[in-house]
Amino acid sequence: MDKSLFIPEVLGWKTENEYKEFFDSRLSKELRILVLSIASVIRLYEKDKELIITEVYRTLEERHRLYPEGHRLHNVVGAHELWKAIDLRVWNLDPDTVEGVLRYYETSEFDFFLIYHKIRKGVNHFHIQMRS
Ligand SMILES: [Zn+2]
Repeated sequence: MDKSLFIPEVLGWKTENEYKEFFDSRLSKELRILVLSIASVIRLYEKDKELIITEVYRTLEERHRLYPEGHRLHNVVGAHELWKAIDLRVWNLDPDTVEGVLRYYETSEFDFFLIYHKIRKGVNHFHIQMRS
């Protein structure tokens, strides 16, 4: 994997593990480019935000440990096992920024969807998943 790719300074990784997984050849190449690109766009809107990649790959065992009762987004969650989803954490992002990001990509050729939700006060979470 060519790590000389442009990495927006706004982007960080929770641990060395997520960093390795982000550059793993099993990860959807489109997804990697999309996340790098989204980070750049957010950087344009809000200069001081830091986006942390908190989850790339997840095993079935890890999923069962995280969601023993199953999950309302069962299929969505499974996407991490297929290297087709990435979770990002960000502090206090303006909802208009999220809107802007989605508008920006509306007409793009990336076939993905994004779920944005609050995990605890001020901390928000993106789940970005490729459709195919
Ligand atoms: Zn996720």
